[in-house]
Amino acid sequence: ITADEQAVVDEIEEKDIDFLRLQFTDILGTVKNVSVPARQAEKAFKDGIYFDGSSIEGFVRIQESDMRLVPDPDTFAVLPWKADDDGASARLICDVYDTSTGEPFEGDPRRVLQNALDRAEEMGYTVNAAPEPEFFLFEEDEDGRATTKTGDHGGYFDLAPKDLASDVRRDIIYGLEDMGFEIEASHHEVAEGQHEINFEYDDALSTADNVATFRTVVRAIAAQHDLHATFMPKPIPKINGSGMHTHLSLFTEDGENAFHDGDDEFDLSETAHSFLAGILEHAPAITAVADPTVNSYKRLVPGYEAPVYVAWSDRNRSALIRKPAARIPAASRIEARFPDPSCNPYLALAALIQAGLDGIENDLECPDPVRENIYEFDEEKREEYGIETLPSNLGEAVDALEEDEVIYDALGEHVAPKFVEAKSQEFEDYLVDVSDWELDRYLETF
Ligand code: GLN
Ligand code: MG
Ligand code: MG
Ligand code: MG
Repeated sequence: ITADEQAVVDEIEEKDIDFLRLQFTDILGTVKNVSVPARQAEKAFKDGIYFDGSSIEGFVRIQESDMRLVPDPDTFAVLPWKADDDGASARLICDVYDTSTGEPFEGDPRRVLQNALDRAEEMGYTVNAAPEPEFFLFEEDEDGRATTKTGDHGGYFDLAPKDLASDVRRDIIYGLEDMGFEIEASHHEVAEGQHEINFEYDDALSTADNVATFRTVVRAIAAQHDLHATFMPKPIPKINGSGMHTHLSLFTEDGENAFHDGDDEFDLSETAHSFLAGILEHAPAITAVADPTVNSYKRLVPGYEAPVYVAWSDRNRSALIRKPAARIPAASRIEARFPDPSCNPYLALAALIQAGLDGIENDLECPDPVRENIYEFDEEKREEYGIETLPSNLGEAVDALEEDEVIYDALGEHVAPKFVEAKSQEFEDYLVDVSDWELDRYLETF
């Protein structure tokens, strides 16, 4: 085993870890664990751990169900909570290998992102990403089930004591810091019961790992306070939903920010402009991946700081992509504002990055930024500016994905058809359901 792996084995001994959770995600972004006694760490690094993948969402066909998990030593973290009074547990995020070929398994979302990063590397870039996940904290009822009651009357950046959930948020932050997160900022969001915690940018793979971990930690610590944390994009109508703005930049091999150009009006290089243009070009298809639930499209409506139109801006927050102010060259970046925290972070980042790289490779022309509030544009004005609208529901988004070769291929031939199948079914289920809204509106009227 490598020196990094040996260091992890030593740390496991030192910290008296009893159990290792070997972690990976399915296509829908749900975190899966295989738990092994900690003394198997060395063997796990050497040979991997075999498991039956046939019951994992979209993983394999039954007849080829044996998979191998190979832990990534960089992802070692002791879990900040204990299942019982025994020793502590730690987790390691794993790459999944196909036992029949010995190759990385193409159905592993982490692999899909790695493919995008390999392409970036071939073009001479590494990719940095930073997410801003938002979530709601809701009370539980007597049976411990989630409600949509917030018990909190805070507003954007409100300070205690109005922000009653700040204790919980503080515990969440301690938990995350214990697991190695660098927390940049945390605050109450616009809506009641809504919160945001930002962690430091990292390479895109680590960032996707971090998002998966983040959601687990936030839910677990909220539960300790008898609260339910949800990353559902729009739990309550007519107030802000939860987004996961995603900041992106490319760096060159010698550590220069390839997105920075001090001579440009927006501080953005040609490379950044083309990357941005690539995301705009493929936005409808990316939406299927970055906003992958029926509920996602209840967030992408005018009036709640979420994007609806395909445009970028250096000023306003109604645009799909914003150019945040950067104080130093290294911080020049773009902010994709359409992803939401129900997405599979590996697949969403892969789609965004592949779209951007495609923009660079094809020298795509970046349109002018839009500085007005696009929510207020009428159709005529949008046409005049050449501004497209995002898909208005999951069905349209999946159609866009199927039609967009770049994004479909970004998911790979294993994940793409399975993703389309799962999401088409989800939308179908929704279409045939009869909602409370319909009953309220029609039951007694007709
Ligand atoms: N909640 C908004 C969204 O849905 C973002 C609000 C903000 O961060 N300013 O994207
Ligand atoms: Mg923010
Ligand atoms: Mg926010
Ligand atoms: Mg933001």
